Order: sequence, then C-alpha cells, then structure tokens
Amino acid sequence: MTLKHLNIALDGPAGSGKSTIARIISERLGILHLDTGAMYRAVAYKAIKCGIKNYNADGIKKLLPSLDLKVVYKNNCQKIILDGKDITSKIRTPEISDGASKVAVIPEVRIKLVEIQRKIAANHDVVMDGRDIGTYVLPEAKYKFFLIASVDERAKRRWKELINKNICCTYEQVLKDIIFRDKNDSCRAFAPLKKAEDAILIDTTGKSIEQVAKIILDKLK
Ligand code: C5P
Repeated sequence: MTLKHLNIALDGPAGSGKSTIARIISERLGILHLDTGAMYRAVAYKAIKCGIKNYNADGIKKLLPSLDLKVVYKNNCQKIILDGKDITSKIRTPEISDGASKVAVIPEVRIKLVEIQRKIAANHDVVMDGRDIGTYVLPEAKYKFFLIASVDERAKRRWKELINKNICCTYEQVLKDIIFRDKNDSCRAFAPLKKAEDAILIDTTGKSIEQVAKIILDKLK
C-alpha cells in the first residue's frame, strides 16, 4: 500500500498523552486527528447497550455485521456516531475504558475498525493515535512516534482528566485500570501495543504537553 496523504502514527499506552498531543499536532498542521481508541470504546458501549455479558467474543462478533459506526468531523473535531446517535461524550467512563480493552482483543473487531481507519488515512492527511498504528494499521506512515510515561504519572493525568469531566473515581481505581490495560493491550496476540522499530520514542514523564508537541513538530519540519 502506497500512501498518497501525509500520515502520522502516534502510539503509546493509556495516559501517555497521545490524544492531547495528536489534537495539537492536527490543529497546528491543519490536518485530521483520528483517535482510534474512541472506536474501540464505541464497540464496548454497543456491547453494554445490547446486554452482552463480560464482552464475550461470540456475542460481540454477532454485533459486527450490522455495526453502524461512523467517524465524522464537526469543526475539525472528531465525533463518534453509533446507530445514528452522537455518543462522543458517553464513552469516557472507567467502565467503557475497561470494556474497550476487552473488545480490542477480538481480532474480528480490530479487522472491522482497522478497515475504517485505513480508509480515512487513504483519503486524508491525518495524525492517528492508538496502540497499533505504526506497527499494523499504517506500517508505511511517513512519521511514527511512540509516547511513554511512568505509570504513576499516566494514572495522575487520567484521574485529573476524569475529575475535570465530573466522572467520579479514585486515583487508586484509575491506577488499577491503567495497569490492567497496559497488560491486556501489550499481551494480546493480534496487533498488540508495541513500538514500531522505526518509531521515535518520547518519554513524556515530567514534560508539559507543549514540550512534547514541540519535540514532534520539530521532527516533522
Ligand atoms: O486510547 P484509549 O484509551 O481511548 O483506548 C481505549 C482502548 O482501546 C485501549 O485500552 C486499547 O485496548 C484499545 N485500543 C486498541 N487499539 C487502538 C486504540 C485503542 O486496542 N488502536
């Protein structure tokens, strides 16, 4: 696959700052930002709505043929539309984070979502953030970055983010969730969380959002 558009892959574990940084990069460059995690979150949301117990793979696979999931942009802002409804603000809860990591293990889910992701990349200049963008979704992306940070700092960032959104949770719960997701995302057999060999590693521990954005923008110059 030869890419006609500018594709930037931004991967890393939960709380590494990917989505915030990707949004800044997309605004500065005037290109799209695709937060692929939101798509896995939408599948988890659908599974809950359909009463599928423990995100069991057979139940989830049955949902896929009729999954009506669209990624649209309003004023350059990504919106997730499921069954015709905007669910963007409903998929940030700890319950959905946990569910997203569980449905993301199912290869059929990944194949379905990756197809949508690749179509967007084939038609637009985009900075795409996720876990497997540099290794699996867009292995030929021109620029690849892999963001990391200490688990403590990532949990603190995620906790503050949730509190700011009035989502009630303790730091300990968020830390537990991050540790679970790190393991689940890195150990799955299909397209795990992994740094692409040609990705630039950035440790964001102790760095501000602006500092990290500058490192990336300097590399893109
Ligand atoms: O990035 P975010 O925390 O919103 O992602 C939610 C979950 O979706 C992750 O924990 C991961 O399991 C899954 N995911 C994935 N591959 C991606 C993006 C997200 O497996 N490209």
